[in-house]
Amino acid sequence: MNAVIENSDNTPPPLTAQQAEDRRWMAYAMQLAQRAAELGEVPVGAVLVHQGQVIGEGWNQPISGHDPTAHAEMLALRNAAQAIENYRLIDSTLYVTIEPCTMCAGAIVHARVARVVFGATEPKAGAAISNGQVFDQPWMNHQVAYEGGVLAEACSAQISAFFKQRRAQHKALKQQQRAEAEQARQQQ
Ligand SMILES: [Zn+2]
Repeated sequence: MNAVIENSDNTPPPLTAQQAEDRRWMAYAMQLAQRAAELGEVPVGAVLVHQGQVIGEGWNQPISGHDPTAHAEMLALRNAAQAIENYRLIDSTLYVTIEPCTMCAGAIVHARVARVVFGATEPKAGAAISNGQVFDQPWMNHQVAYEGGVLAEACSAQISAFFKQRRAQHKALKQQQRAEAEQARQQQ
């Protein structure tokens, strides 16, 4: 009977030190994602951590950077490789707010990143678990440990809020254009 009472207790188990650290870095990646939003880019942020220190960070900016490869993860990898002057980022952990795409997953393997932690899954372009399992391919010459779902709801909400705001802006712009067109017609 006691066991039943204990099982009905909804208090989540305490976080392990690793889980607490993962959440802390994911919250940091979300701050970086916000910088993308400020550029009008889809808010995705990434931070590369080595022995508890930031060695690289990036936020999504393909449109403003005129660069199809300027995803948050790619920029964090480049930033880190420049910082440590090594194209291999051994023993590092990459935190990214959204599940990586095939390009980023491939770059993560090339960079020899040890572990990837992502927030929300990406049902369309996600290449870790959703629409591809790049990290699980046996022919890959480096195995990357990965884990999703860290602060997933918050990461997903950040993206949704961005698109909602963008739709509202488009709508307001259209209304304004229509009003201006109407005004011009009446003045003819
Ligand atoms: Zn990507």
